[in-house]
Amino acid sequence: MKKKGILIVVSGFSGSGKGTLMKQLLKEFECYALSISATTRAPREGEENGRDYFFVTKDCFRQMIREGALYEYASYQDNYYGTPRQYVDDRLAEGKDVILEIDVQGAEKIKQRFPDTVLVFVTPPSAEELRRRLVGRGTETIEKINGRLARAVEEARFMPFYDYVLINDDLALCVKELHSIIRSEHMKARRSQELIMTLTDELAQITKGE
Ligand code: 5GP
Repeated sequence: MKKKGILIVVSGFSGSGKGTLMKQLLKEFECYALSISATTRAPREGEENGRDYFFVTKDCFRQMIREGALYEYASYQDNYYGTPRQYVDDRLAEGKDVILEIDVQGAEKIKQRFPDTVLVFVTPPSAEELRRRLVGRGTETIEKINGRLARAVEEARFMPFYDYVLINDDLALCVKELHSIIRSEHMKARRSQELIMTLTDELAQITKGE
């Protein structure tokens, strides 16, 4: 039987570069699957239904909640966002490590439901760098940028509850670090119960034969 994958939550400030980090990680390694969330917000330019999000109506989203089809959901700027359970379950059963790129509220709910989840918070090296990146995008008004920075202040309060804080300064390095965090998690003794039991049995057999 294939070993079940690990559930990983990646959160980070808007402008932390976590989206690019995810894309690069998935490009370099086949062992990961990125969960696709359902949302009631409208698609942005270049976004595709079923690739970036499942774009659904509020009625449809409420029905998913009623049917228990979501592992968690949260509202953000008048829209719902949620993690569909089927996709996550299927990929984990295949042995993939499943990454949920969700906000701090979702992270808290997932950790409560699945205490073995690894929580990773991605941040730029400094607040000034975060502001520089948000301004550098050149796509938003100063009010919008200030709104994102204000939200970052709120989100920073959750950082101490994460398992890892990952500084995204150099993308290639950050990808390597995230990959090695997850590899190390696989080697934790509490995730290796089967191996420990098999080895213990084998040792008992060998010593009996002597
Ligand atoms: P955006 O609209 O910029 O794509 O996402 C807004 C926020 O919603 C981001 O912080 C993103 O991580 C979060 N988000 C996306 N999908 C989910 C989800 O399934 N659950 C929760 N709780 N947050 C999500």
